[in-house]
Amino acid sequence: MALIVQKFGGSSVANPERIKKVAERVVETKNKGNRLVVVVSALGDTTDELIDLAAQITDKPIDREMDMLLATGEQISVALLAMAIHKLGVKAISFTGPQVGIYTDTTHRKARIVKINTDRITKALGQGYVVIVAGFQGQTSDNEITTLGRGGSDLTAVALATVLRAKVCEIYTDVDGVYTADPRIAKDAKKLDIISYDEMLELASLGAQVMQARSVEMGKKYDMPILVRNSMNHSSGTLITKEVKSMEDVLVRGVALNTNEAKVTIFGVPDKPGVAARIFKRLADSHVNVDMIIQNKTKTNTTDISFTVFKSELKTSLAAVQAAVKEVGAKGMICDEKIAKVSVVGVGMRSHSGVASKMFGALAKNRINIDMISTSEIKISCVIESKHGKKAVQSLHREFGLGRN
Ligand code: ADP
Ligand code: ASP
Ligand code: MG
Repeated sequence: MALIVQKFGGSSVANPERIKKVAERVVETKNKGNRLVVVVSALGDTTDELIDLAAQITDKPIDREMDMLLATGEQISVALLAMAIHKLGVKAISFTGPQVGIYTDTTHRKARIVKINTDRITKALGQGYVVIVAGFQGQTSDNEITTLGRGGSDLTAVALATVLRAKVCEIYTDVDGVYTADPRIAKDAKKLDIISYDEMLELASLGAQVMQARSVEMGKKYDMPILVRNSMNHSSGTLITKEVKSMEDVLVRGVALNTNEAKVTIFGVPDKPGVAARIFKRLADSHVNVDMIIQNKTKTNTTDISFTVFKSELKTSLAAVQAAVKEVGAKGMICDEKIAKVSVVGVGMRSHSGVASKMFGALAKNRINIDMISTSEIKISCVIESKHGKKAVQSLHREFGLGRN
């Protein structure tokens, strides 16, 4: 009997009707003779609503208490799904992350899974239950509840599929699979049948919300096939898998847009060894993730340093930067929240040249100014004004011939 892990995202369980539909789908898979572990996200926009609730109490919620709050969302959905499956005459049992032994480190709100004790799941599967696990949560070795970062139910699913040696990890969502661009932005985006782990990892890290980046990283590490499918229909979906040579024939696999970052510039930074190290140590000590960094030497003996951070970490970053400005004797700092990062991704870039000039040309044609650029072997990203974000995606999608037409 094959073991399958299925994950249903928030939109797939947004209301009682949808939960009943998911239950039918789960029962269908179970009745084909599979053993089944089902990971569920919080109903609809519950997590956003919980974050809003906390914001109405305080603008500096304690991370531990945020995790206590956020973990409640998934606890509601697993119980309701278990009830819906029961009603269809199939045995199902729901568990929280801590109940099934998902252990994490102590970094609240973006904890990393360090160990999963599978005894309880294996026992319930052996007793014929469909096992339903709350996504997005775990516990530290001191029994503190943690959450795994936004979109973290994907990670719960891939991690469980890996430790349980599942045949496949199926991610059910509200679109037919992974597209060449967010179908909400590029109306003629094409569904991909297959994509490599590396391409999906880049797209996810660069803003394609359909998969959480860390879950793809884990899938790649353990070579777990991930199938992204629509929970509302039976179309075949997109398989995220190992790279094969023919994937390099395609220059650009997809375009991504990220509007969750802000840019910070420190100007008049003394041009001396060790200064950048001191600035970024302050940010690292505050647990801020820094993304793009640009340093530009001017004609004087100073430099300007710009970098991007998640908007959700901007307040913490600014406090750290203010302290760093004083420490290193820089002139000052400014921050810009109205930025967007648009990226093209494809393993074909390794063996083809000219992608950068084509990308910059397309942006120029649309009179979109480029503020920062960063590249890797398989991606090019440009920071632009946020008001041009959608237009940039559409024009790059067209320029690289990614659409259906
Ligand atoms: P879930 O609630 O199932 O976790 P998400 O909202 O996290 O779903 O992710 C699905 C959404 O991701 C889609 O509705 C789509 O708008 C967005 N998305 C962004 N980029 C892409 C892409 N390249 N392919 C498919 N969907 C994408
Ligand atoms: N409910 C969590 C979130 O909205 C986890 C998830 O949906 O994957 O981020
Ligand atoms: Mg998601």
